[in-house]
Amino acid sequence: MLSDFNLQMVKEVEKQFNLSFKSFNLNKNIIKNLFKNYQSKEITIDFYDSSPPQCKECEQLNCENCELYEAWFKSEERLKFNNWVDIFGPGIWDYDQEDSNKFAKNLLLEILKEDKEKDDRLFIAYKNNSLILYYYNRDRKECCDYGFVFKKRED
Ligand SMILES: [Zn+2]
Repeated sequence: MLSDFNLQMVKEVEKQFNLSFKSFNLNKNIIKNLFKNYQSKEITIDFYDSSPPQCKECEQLNCENCELYEAWFKSEERLKFNNWVDIFGPGIWDYDQEDSNKFAKNLLLEILKEDKEKDDRLFIAYKNNSLILYYYNRDRKECCDYGFVFKKRED
């Protein structure tokens, strides 16, 4: 389960985008059906990794062995501050629709593989003709969340 603080951060995302999240569990069939009925319109990767401390011994910025890093990694300040967003989708980075679908599918398969803890990190919301998935992951090693916007296929 996510801690109260992390759940509060999820609430902030809901508020920001005016969504209403429900917990959502993935499996391979769900992923297959999703792409039968929807196309990937946008994938956002939101980073929460600004200003990591420099290790006094090895001088690296993200030395996982040092106490400073540990404190930074766990700090609420880090978890609250979205310092970078990467966006992928049709028309961005020379992606076409098929590239975008492939990218989203691979990311979801990766999440399915990673998330053996089943701790309710994935959320679903519907808005107009869109299906939105949000994966809360900023409190883990990657320091980033993943957002997916899918549009219903028109054929
Ligand atoms: Zn070090």
